[in-house]
Amino acid sequence: MFDKILIANRGEIALRIQRACREMGIKAVAAHSSADVDAMHVRLAEESVCIGPPKAADSYLNIPALITACELTGAQAVHPGYGFLSENANFSRIVSEHNIAFIGPTAEHITMMGDKITAKDTMKRLGVPVVPGSDGAIREDDEAKRVASEIGYPVLVKAASGGGGRGMKVAETEADLSNALSTARTEAKAGFGDETVYLEKYLGKPRHIEIQIMADSHGNVVHLGERDCSLQRRHQKVLEEAPGPCITDAERAEIGARCANALKEIGYLGAGTIEFLYENGEFYFIEMNTRLQVEHPVTEMVYGVDLVREQIRVAYGEELSFKQEDLVPNGHAIECRINAEDPHTFAPSPGTIQRYHPPGGLGVRMDSGIYAGYKIPPYYDSLIGKLIVHGRDRPECVARLRRALAETIIDGVETTAPLFHALLDSPDVVSGDYDIHWLEHWLSAKLPGE
Ligand code: ADP
Repeated sequence: MFDKILIANRGEIALRIQRACREMGIKAVAAHSSADVDAMHVRLAEESVCIGPPKAADSYLNIPALITACELTGAQAVHPGYGFLSENANFSRIVSEHNIAFIGPTAEHITMMGDKITAKDTMKRLGVPVVPGSDGAIREDDEAKRVASEIGYPVLVKAASGGGGRGMKVAETEADLSNALSTARTEAKAGFGDETVYLEKYLGKPRHIEIQIMADSHGNVVHLGERDCSLQRRHQKVLEEAPGPCITDAERAEIGARCANALKEIGYLGAGTIEFLYENGEFYFIEMNTRLQVEHPVTEMVYGVDLVREQIRVAYGEELSFKQEDLVPNGHAIECRINAEDPHTFAPSPGTIQRYHPPGGLGVRMDSGIYAGYKIPPYYDSLIGKLIVHGRDRPECVARLRRALAETIIDGVETTAPLFHALLDSPDVVSGDYDIHWLEHWLSAKLPGE
């Protein structure tokens, strides 16, 4: 096994990876920016190395600095976490060229799934159901009109290189189409340096369902069921759960097997998530993430496995420690993303944590790097913790979540914790009856009265 792994990330996920390393007897190096000297993942690391100034472009995205850090510390592998360089094919390639193991898939697979048009074509070819839409890129407005009238309005114009919900525009009717195309192209060009767009049927009331896959280099590819991440604001996930409240055992087995077979076919390695929209009993592929997801803990709680440990094992060339038949979901898990943000306006709220009391007790897991006295730097995203609860079934899980939220104390900055208190008062959330638009509607209905 590796002796030493460099963690090219920060915050809760850096600590999460460090924990897996420690349990495996592997030394973890915290590669951090100068703004994160006092971060918990740096304080707890066996070894740490500063890779640059606060700005992510100069530190967490600085490939030469990260390679140098590996050489200086003798790290044999790099774990990129999520965000930052985790889906950067160039980084995966350069790391490998330096004879350092990249804990993730090959550059070829990152590139394949990073372009949404190629990803969709590939999945379609491999037997995974996709959203009806254009065959590849749309160049001319006339072509867009033809495709749109075939699939039916409303349609969604999407950027091939898009991410984080940006570069997407809905056209309700043909009259909106030219405008939607040009706005999406402009946004895509500005945000991603690529104005390629394509067209998809816009689904009215879908749920977001994603399938977790793990693959080793011995031909074993398994699925670990689904997560329902339908509660979203501005296309960003807010709360995630497993299993999906509306997915049957038969649906899970069928879509899970299709996804696992598809990734086996292309020789994929490591953790991957295949994302779908789900409506009227049908799954429609939207994109694949070639990395660990923020919401991976709900899967871990339900399947009783450590996904980071498996990522490290397969990157070293070992076999997965489980087979498909060993993977039986147990109970229910929900994750709340706690951000340092105003719970009403969602404006970032950096500052110093004055008091911190994490919740505990049976079935409660808090993945966070904060502590009393910790100063949240303003340079990075606002996620400061993930509260994950597990129960024997969904009602028990919901009751436990309510209890755990009531115990949580984070003072000194605004957080989104109160949002979850309010959400758990909603009968729709309690019964699991929501689609991807539910949260936005609920927030706009709620705001005037506050
Ligand atoms: P990104 O990479 O920007 O996150 P995705 O393709 O994953 O883009 O889509 C993000 C979100 O946008 C989805 O979770 C869903 O809420 C919405 N969305 C994407 N495609 C469609 C579609 N065809 N119809 C309706 N909503 C969609």
